[in-house]
Amino acid sequence: MKIDEALDLIAEIPDFPEPGVLFRDLTPVFGDAAAFAAVVDALAEAVGDVDQLAAVEARGFVLAAAVGYAKGLGVALVRKPGKLPAVAGRVDYTLEYGTATLELPVGAVRPGQRVTIVDDVLATGGTVAAATSLLADAGADVRGVAVVLELAALEGRAQVPGVPVHALRTL
Ligand code: 5GP
Repeated sequence: MKIDEALDLIAEIPDFPEPGVLFRDLTPVFGDAAAFAAVVDALAEAVGDVDQLAAVEARGFVLAAAVGYAKGLGVALVRKPGKLPAVAGRVDYTLEYGTATLELPVGAVRPGQRVTIVDDVLATGGTVAAATSLLADAGADVRGVAVVLELAALEGRAQVPGVPVHALRTL
């Protein structure tokens, strides 16, 4: 399947998770083998030449795991709070709708590793900025962000200055 055909499966859900927000739902992409493969292949090209991937739970994990397998790379699993037995770093940040905390497990990255963050949607950029600061504090060299969808009006890439953002589709 061509990548544009795969991305056309993304659904628009008005007023989720709160009134006024137009949620982009990737469920049909994850659920279609050909679309999922096209997206994973395109992300694998977008992540560039790095040593490790990083992703934020939960949809980021699904994408990064498949891309990591395709590229022969491991994945640093950035978690929501309270899940980890050994926390290397913690950061609180602002979301498009609310606030959140992320934690990096001990041993997820090695100092000097070149890392690309993989996620489904770049909205306000709070999530990738938080992940970037966690990874940088652990000594990683964040080289890029690869997302399926970038919501350009929210100017998320401004939250990670100097880090190239690759989006399969920009809206
Ligand atoms: P940000 O921190 O950039 O505002 O939000 C990005 C994070 O929230 C991503 O991890 C993404 O999963 C989720 N997110 C925000 N808006 C949307 C959306 O419209 N659709 C989906 N699928 N995820 C979203």
